Amino acid sequence: NLTNRLSGVIKTLRGQARLTEANIQDALREVRMALLEADVALPVVKDFIAHVKERAQGQEVLASLTPGQAVIGIVHQEMARLMGGQNAALNFTTLPPAVILMAGLQGAGKTTTSAKLAKYLREQMKKKVLLASCDVYRPAAMEQLRALAQQIETDYFSAEAGQSPEQIALAARDYADKHFHDVLIIDTAGRLAIDEAMMAEIQRLHEVLKPIETLFVVDAMQGQDAVNTAKAFSEALPLTGVVLTKLDGDARGGAALSVRQVTGKPIKFAGVGEKVGGLEAFHPERMASRILGMGDVLSLIEEAHRGVDQEEAVKLAKKMKSGKSFDLEDFKAQLQQMKKMGGVAALMDKLPAQMGQAAAGMADDKSINRIEGIINSMTPGERRNPALLKASRKRRIAAGAGVQVQEVNRLLNQFEQTQKMMKMVAKGGMAKMMRGMKG
Ligand code: GDP
Ligand code: MG
Repeated sequence: NLTNRLSGVIKTLRGQARLTEANIQDALREVRMALLEADVALPVVKDFIAHVKERAQGQEVLASLTPGQAVIGIVHQEMARLMGGQNAALNFTTLPPAVILMAGLQGAGKTTTSAKLAKYLREQMKKKVLLASCDVYRPAAMEQLRALAQQIETDYFSAEAGQSPEQIALAARDYADKHFHDVLIIDTAGRLAIDEAMMAEIQRLHEVLKPIETLFVVDAMQGQDAVNTAKAFSEALPLTGVVLTKLDGDARGGAALSVRQVTGKPIKFAGVGEKVGGLEAFHPERMASRILGMGDVLSLIEEAHRGVDQEEAVKLAKKMKSGKSFDLEDFKAQLQQMKKMGGVAALMDKLPAQMGQAAAGMADDKSINRIEGIINSMTPGERRNPALLKASRKRRIAAGAGVQVQEVNRLLNQFEQTQKMMKMVAKGGMAKMMRGMKG
C-alpha cells in the first residue's frame, strides 16, 4: 500500500549522506508509482511530483543534515498542501437557518453524515439543528434519518406523503424559521451512478434553497471512481466543501489526495466510523501523517494537552528521565490518563501501528477499570516492587479484586510490556523509538 511504498523510499534515502540529482530522481519515481497505485489521479500526481522536486532540489534540502528526513518532510508538507493546507470550517455567515445541502451518490454516507453533522454542530458549536430528508424514492431512507435523529435527540422534519423534494425542502425551511433553528441539514437521494435526473433534482433543490453550504459526500474507499464522481458533482453544483467518509476502513488514501484538487473545494470533514460519533474536522496535515504512516501524533499531542493532568505528566516524565523504574503505581496513573483522553479506542488509531497494537492488548475501558481494581488490591510495597508478587500474594489480590488469578497474571504481563516500552522512551526518546519501530 501507499504507506509501505513510501516508507521504502524513506529507508533508501536514510542510508545516503546527501541528496543528488540522481537519487532525488529515483526517490520521486518511487513516490510517483506509490501515488498512482493508491489511485491518485494522474494530473494530481504530476503536479505533486513537480512541487516536491522543485523543493527537494532547493537549498533547504542540501543544507539539511539528514536528507531522508528532509525529503519526507517535503513530501509531507506537499501532501498537506494538496489536501488544502489547513482545516476549513463551515460557513455560517447568513441569516438563520443556515442551510446545508448534502449531495453525493447512494451509499456515499449522506444520511449517516447528516446525523453525525447535526450531533457535531449541537455539541461543538451549540447550534439548534433541524434534519430533513428529501429522499422521496426510498421510504427506508427517510426512516433511517428519522431514527438517527431520534437517537441523537435532534429535531426531524416529517414530510407529508406525496410532497416533492423541493416542497419538502421549502416546508422544512419554513419550519426551521418558525422554530428558531440555527441550522437546517437537507439529506437528499442518490443514485448508484451519476445520471441526469438525479443531477437535475439536486440542482433544483440548490436553486430553491440557496444553501450556504453544499457538501459533496464521497466514499474514500472508491479510489479513482471518487475522482470521476467529484468532477461530475462539482460541475453540476457550486460545492462549498467535501466530506470524505469511511476513512476508518482500509481506504488507500488516494481519494483524499485527489478530491480537493479535482473539485477545488476543501475537505471539511472526515467520516471515521458507522456510529453517530464518527465525524472529525478534516486536518490535511494530520491526514498526510496518517498516509505516511507516522500515526496521528499531532492530534494525540493535542488531546494529551486537553485531557491529561499536566502535573501527572510532568511527574512521569521526570521519573523517566531520572531513570527510576516504572512501577505499577505509574502504570495505573497512565491508564487513568488514557481514559481521560477518550479511551483506548480513540487512542489506538492515532498511534503508529505497532504501538497501537500494544495498546490493543488492553482492549477497552471496561478492562482498564478491572485492571485498576486489581492494582488497588495490592499493597503499596507490591505496587512499587512487582517482583514480590508470588503465587500466594497473587491469590490474595485476585480474591480481593474479585477476579481470577489468570487475570492478575495477564495484568502483570501487560505491565511488563509497558515497562519495556517506557525504558526505551527513557533511553532514546520518542523519536528513536519510532524510528526503531519503522526500520
Ligand atoms: P447514503 O446512501 O449516501 O445516504 O449513505 P448512508 O448514510 O446510508 O451510508 C451507507 C453505508 O455506509 C451505511 O452502512 C453507513 O453505516 C456506512 N457509513 C457511512 N459513513 C461511514 C463512515 O465514515 N465509516 C464507515 N465505516 N461506514 C460509514
Ligand atoms: Mg441516504
